[in-house]
Amino acid sequence: MIFSKRVLGVQESFLNKWDSDIKHRVAEGEDFLQFNLGQPDFSLPGFVKEAIVEAKEKDKNNFYNHTGGTDGLRSAVAGMEEKLSGLAYQREEIIITNGAKEAIFLALAAVLNVGDEVIIIAPAWPTYIEAVKFLGGVPVVLDTDTDFHLNLEAIKGAVNVRTVAIIINSPNNPTGVIYDEEELKEVAQMVIANDLLVISDEVYSATIFDGRGHFSVAKLPDMKARTVVIDGFSKTLSMTGFRLGYAASSREMIDAMVKVKSNINGNTNSFFQVVLEDVIAHRAGDFQDFIGYARREYLRRRDFLCGRLQEMGVEHTRPQGAFYVFAKIPEKLHMKSKEFAEFLADKAGVAVAPGIFFGQSFDNYFRISFGASMEDLEKGMDKMNKIL
Ligand code: PMP
Repeated sequence: MIFSKRVLGVQESFLNKWDSDIKHRVAEGEDFLQFNLGQPDFSLPGFVKEAIVEAKEKDKNNFYNHTGGTDGLRSAVAGMEEKLSGLAYQREEIIITNGAKEAIFLALAAVLNVGDEVIIIAPAWPTYIEAVKFLGGVPVVLDTDTDFHLNLEAIKGAVNVRTVAIIINSPNNPTGVIYDEEELKEVAQMVIANDLLVISDEVYSATIFDGRGHFSVAKLPDMKARTVVIDGFSKTLSMTGFRLGYAASSREMIDAMVKVKSNINGNTNSFFQVVLEDVIAHRAGDFQDFIGYARREYLRRRDFLCGRLQEMGVEHTRPQGAFYVFAKIPEKLHMKSKEFAEFLADKAGVAVAPGIFFGQSFDNYFRISFGASMEDLEKGMDKMNKIL
C-alpha cells in the first residue's frame, strides 16, 4: 500500500502507543504499576451511574443528533463555562466532541492552510504537534523558560506572517505549571496585535491546588472570539473511555468546527450527552463535590510523590495543577528517556512516560501521572527507589 504523505509524515500518538504496549504486556500476564497515562483511578462516580440508569429509559437517545451536540447539553455546558470562567456563552458557541482531543483537531482543521505556522509551547502534550503536521501546518515548537513558564520573548520573536495560532495548556501537562494572569495578558496582546487564534487547552481546569480559581485567557478583553477554549469530562468525571469533550468559542468558529465534524463522525455519542446534561443540570452539587474530593486526593498524592522523589534525590516539578510530575532522570544513570522508561518497565514493572514524548529538549526527563492510586504510587516509589 502506498500511504499518503500526510500519514507518512505523522507519528501515532507516542503516549497512546506506549500505553497500548503496556496494556498488551499486562494482558499477557506481566505486572505493571501504570503511571504512564493521564488516567484517573477513580471509579465512575455514583451520580453518573444513576444518570446512566435513568437515561436508558428515555426515548431516542440511540438516534443520530445534531453534529455540534444536543441542544440540552450545549446549553448546559455554556452555563457551566459561565460559572467557571465568568464568560457568557450561547448554546451555538459550544461544540460537544469525542474528547478534548477531537476538539483540538477540529479547531486546527478550521483555521489551517498548508504551510501555516502554529506556535506550540514545549514540553507539550504530543498530539498538538502531530495534529498540526497532519493538517499540513508547520509546528513551531518553543521551549518554556527555566521554570516552565512562557518564554514571551521567544514567542514574540517567532510570530511572522505565516503564524495563525498558538496552543497553550494551563494547568499544564506535563509540568503542572499554571500560567499567571500577567503572562496570559502578554499572550493576548500579541495575539490581538497579530490577528492570531489561541487554542487554550484547559482540560485540567478543575485540578488546581493552590486555591486560586481557574483563569482563562478567553476572559481577557477582546479575547473571547480569538480563543477556542478546550475542555472535557474525561478527567473531571473520571470517564476517559466515554470520550466526551467540548470547545467554546465564537459562533463562527464553532460552525466551522461543526462543518468538519459532520464529515468525520457526526454527533458525539448521543446517549452520554443525555447523561451529561442530566449530571450538569440536576446533579451539579454532586459534580462539584466529586471535583473537590478528586482535588484533595490528587493533592495528597502530589505531596507524597514529591516527598519520595525528593528523598531519592530526583529533581522534579511541584505541580500547581493537573496530575503529573515532570522529573529529571538521575544523571548517574546516563540514560535517555526512552531507555530509562524501558529500563523501569522491564526491571521494576513501573510504567512512566519518557520526556522525549513532550519535546526534543526533554530527553533527560520522565513524567509520572498521579492519577494512579496512592497504593500504587507507594509501591511504585519503593520499586523506583530500589532500582535507582
Ligand atoms: N489535552 C491534554 C493536555 C491532555 O492531557 C489530554 C488527555 N491526556 C487531552 C487534551 C485529551 O483529553 P480527552 O480524553 O478529553 O480527549
